[in-house]
Amino acid sequence: MSHEPPLPALTAADSEVANLVEAEARRQHDKIRMIASENYVSRAVLEATGTVLTNKYSEGYAGRRYYEGQQVIDQVENLTIERAKAVFGVDHANVQPYSGSPANLAVYLALAKPGDTIMGMALPDGGHLTHGWTVSATGKWFNAVRYGVRKETGRVDFDQVRELAREQRPKLIFAGGTAIPRTIEFATFAEIAREVDAVLVADIAHIAGLVAGGAHPSPVGHAPIITTTTHKTLRGPRGAMIMTDADYAKDIDKAVFPGLQGGPHNHTTAAIAVALGEASRPDFRDYAHNVVANAKALADALLERGFDLVSGGTDNHLILADLTSKEIGGKPAAQALDRAGIELNYNTVPFDPRKPFDPSGIRIGTAALTTRGLRPEHQPQIAEWIDRVVTATARSDESVIDTVSAEVGELLAEYPIPGYAA
Ligand SMILES: *Cc1c(COP(=O)(O)O)cnc(C)c1O
Repeated sequence: MSHEPPLPALTAADSEVANLVEAEARRQHDKIRMIASENYVSRAVLEATGTVLTNKYSEGYAGRRYYEGQQVIDQVENLTIERAKAVFGVDHANVQPYSGSPANLAVYLALAKPGDTIMGMALPDGGHLTHGWTVSATGKWFNAVRYGVRKETGRVDFDQVRELAREQRPKLIFAGGTAIPRTIEFATFAEIAREVDAVLVADIAHIAGLVAGGAHPSPVGHAPIITTTTHKTLRGPRGAMIMTDADYAKDIDKAVFPGLQGGPHNHTTAAIAVALGEASRPDFRDYAHNVVANAKALADALLERGFDLVSGGTDNHLILADLTSKEIGGKPAAQALDRAGIELNYNTVPFDPRKPFDPSGIRIGTAALTTRGLRPEHQPQIAEWIDRVVTATARSDESVIDTVSAEVGELLAEYPIPGYAA
């Protein structure tokens, strides 16, 4: 039982770190991982991440670097860019952002000035911190206005988006978020952005893999700027990309470097290329559609068990459940589920009367379990486990945790993961 690829040099040189990595590999094997932003990358992606490309500094862009010795790195970065353009059908891709948050900061730097008005979805309604939420630099340095969802439907309130946009004339409008269980209507956002002369930014961090695999509509043609992480449903290393129409290419590149970052992480760039290669193959389309099929099957099974789902279900990889009717908070439920072998996160729900650190909901994702090979027929059992643990925990009954954990272990033993040899 060990990490794959094996870690002989690390184990010999530093057993303390090696043991921690091994423990994490085992933990990732032993649980049903349902954190909606997580996945299992392939062994090929893992190998690319752990290469000598990490040794190289390459500030600048291919053909215009500030250090010598870029004969190979230029090829790595160009290959990654070409693959991104092909997979998503965009004019231009910058593959250097260190992660999703810096990618969004680069968009602000390219297109807005401190104090400008920008618009994004409110965090408690499903938006991301970097879309102008109060505690984020983007909320402190810009005049951020925030839209949300309708209480009755749990879906984006486009009347509010239009009204706010007309009244506030934002420079940027962000579409996308971290806890949106429904299809993002890029065309409607684009229409509103056009009317008020704002630039629409589609942040597809969560759904990039679904877009690449044809299981969610693409923002291309609606949003001239698209930001994404590469490590969520897209199933690559931790990193990000900014994809743009030709008009914005230069400004975005300048904002990433030298505006915001130094040298790109070339080992990550290579691993992004590998992930994009995987995403261009037919079996990735199957994966993307299976992610959605699994989420829909799980949502149906949870509804049957009386769970209250925000928006009444899901169109994508993600389910948001309000546990108020189960008479338990999201945090104690998530903690008990983790001990039972089901890993997910507590989450605010729209109009949550509770505090963000102790909210009413849990967020449930199906990308990682789909990569692992679980199918819609497994979802009723997963819903039953979630229900059993949540219901018992609400009554302060701890006795089910060990039983569920054992049952989970039995199922997972038949589903190996990349990254660990059981
Ligand atoms: C995850 C996420 C980000 C931030 O990505 P990090 O890599 O965690 O910085 C930005 N926007 C959205 C919508 C996200 O879901």
